[in-house]
Amino acid sequence: MYTAGIDIGGTNIKFGIFDDTLACVHTALAKSVRGDSAALARQIKYLIDQSPVKPDIIGAGVPGAVYRPSGKVNSGNLRWAGVFFGRTLREVTGLKVWLDNDAQCALMAETLEGGACCGLESVVYLTLGTGVGGALLINGRPYRGHDNAAAELGHFITHADGLRCGCGLSGCFEMYASAGALSRMAGGVRARQALDRAAQGDPAMLLAVDRYARELAIGVCSLYMMFRPQAIVLGGGVSAGGEILVEHVLKHVPSCYNLDAEVIRRALRLATARNDAGMRGAAVLAKMNLT
Ligand SMILES: [Zn+2]
Repeated sequence: MYTAGIDIGGTNIKFGIFDDTLACVHTALAKSVRGDSAALARQIKYLIDQSPVKPDIIGAGVPGAVYRPSGKVNSGNLRWAGVFFGRTLREVTGLKVWLDNDAQCALMAETLEGGACCGLESVVYLTLGTGVGGALLINGRPYRGHDNAAAELGHFITHADGLRCGCGLSGCFEMYASAGALSRMAGGVRARQALDRAAQGDPAMLLAVDRYARELAIGVCSLYMMFRPQAIVLGGGVSAGGEILVEHVLKHVPSCYNLDAEVIRRALRLATARNDAGMRGAAVLAKMNLT
């Protein structure tokens, strides 16, 4: 049996076919379609038709909240409000579809062999990208909340009356911990470049990374206090080249909370699955829920 694992982003669609052992047997990349969800479903149907191996079921991750039982999806990134995309994709492809949040998919990929939290039962996952996404694993299972939209970890408030967030609130963690926030603190230098230059000893970039790391430390410590997880995994764009970031986060831990930095040092780790995490994790969740 084959499973399609699809990572739907605002820019690209990453498409993979996985066998029963979750080995990837085919991949494809296509441009994403924003706004028109039916066109996006047809794009995916095209990728399936072009694939040398036909999937039996589909798992897809989207950057947004997937409500259950309604199946309604909200995604600022895809410009969807109340879109029933799972149903559309099922109708267009004729296959069973499991739709999920992209951070949840990335977390599931990290639970596999070689992943950052393989074998662990309690994990907090943060994606530090365009925005900040989150996912939780509690007692070995994804924690979903009553309507499946739990773990919006980018939108708890770390700054009262802080910067206005896209969600409508002010001072959300996302405004201080996303890749865009690092870029803002680095005077417009892109996040990945700021990290690389800081690692090479550029004083201005070191200052920016350190400031950003303090914001991240506040969120990481808060989440540790709430969940006391075995691991807090940092994924997303900022996690590549993130070794220097971890170092600076740990430096700020004692000033954030009355916590031993060693406790956070043991828990904090960088994602390992990176580029294919979304599609692999979507396939894992489809197998878990549809078979
Ligand atoms: Zn927000």
